[in-house]
Amino acid sequence: MPTTVTLGNGLQIGGDAFVVMAGPCAVESRELLLAAAEAVAASGAVVLRGGAFKPRTSPDSFQGLGPAGLDLLREASRATGLPVVTEVMDPRDVELVASSAAILQVGSRNMQNFPLLREVGRQRLPVLLKRGAAATLEELLLAAEYIRREGNSDVLLCERGVRAFDPSTRYLLDLGAVPALRQRTDLPIVVDPSHGTGDASLVPAMAKAALAAGADGLLIEVHVAPERALCDGRQALRPAAFAALMADLRRLAAALGRQWVRAEPRPAGAAPRSGAIPQGCLDDEVIAP
Ligand code: PEP
Ligand code: MN
Repeated sequence: MPTTVTLGNGLQIGGDAFVVMAGPCAVESRELLLAAAEAVAASGAVVLRGGAFKPRTSPDSFQGLGPAGLDLLREASRATGLPVVTEVMDPRDVELVASSAAILQVGSRNMQNFPLLREVGRQRLPVLLKRGAAATLEELLLAAEYIRREGNSDVLLCERGVRAFDPSTRYLLDLGAVPALRQRTDLPIVVDPSHGTGDASLVPAMAKAALAAGADGLLIEVHVAPERALCDGRQALRPAAFAALMADLRRLAAALGRQWVRAEPRPAGAAPRSGAIPQGCLDDEVIAP
């Protein structure tokens, strides 16, 4: 029996449904975040992504806006109605991040940060657990078990590419992991083709392949001006490319008999919601193949 994870707004991840989470790699400014959030919402994403705490390889790189970034994520969530997935790196920040997020992201670099896993396991929010770049599926599943042992069973597993020998792509997106995990766990499986390829031109093909492989959702980086991005600009889709990909995914989902989940549309001109976030709903429109 597949497990479904239900967000605070009622949106379900897992089962027949297919969900797309999208947004910038990092929260960089109010203007850029709101523009990206509006763009991904308009194209049908149902969760907004964006990091306020960024794990960067170099200490000289942009580290994220921290708590100010969380404030901006809350504002973008209110403006678009989309719940937020955002990374937490430090067990001491878990409660702070949890107050702004609908899903706590544990990044690849922290997949085996056991104190962090235990701390997110004590929260009442779903956790998106990213596979370590050199982690086996067994290790990923055991990391998820750390979270579940603390009482939080709402874990989304995320394949985001593993380290391999060929520098042609940033990582090697392991799509075989999707059916392989499916045989071993009931947890929903999300694929991140942005980090998995490191190249925006490769993202659409791998996003569609992930859906075809049976993923429950996607995590995709979108930026309104990738050339100006402070983090991962090369792999960010522009809004127009994201919209085109979403149209393709929607047709593919229909062909595969998957339910396409969309956010409940906000009436035109309606004021941004404060507090409550609209429930996701299944798209039952007939889609031409
Ligand atoms: C991210 O999704 O923002 C991120 C840092 O990804 P990963 O942990 O997979 O490198
Ligand atoms: Mn990134």
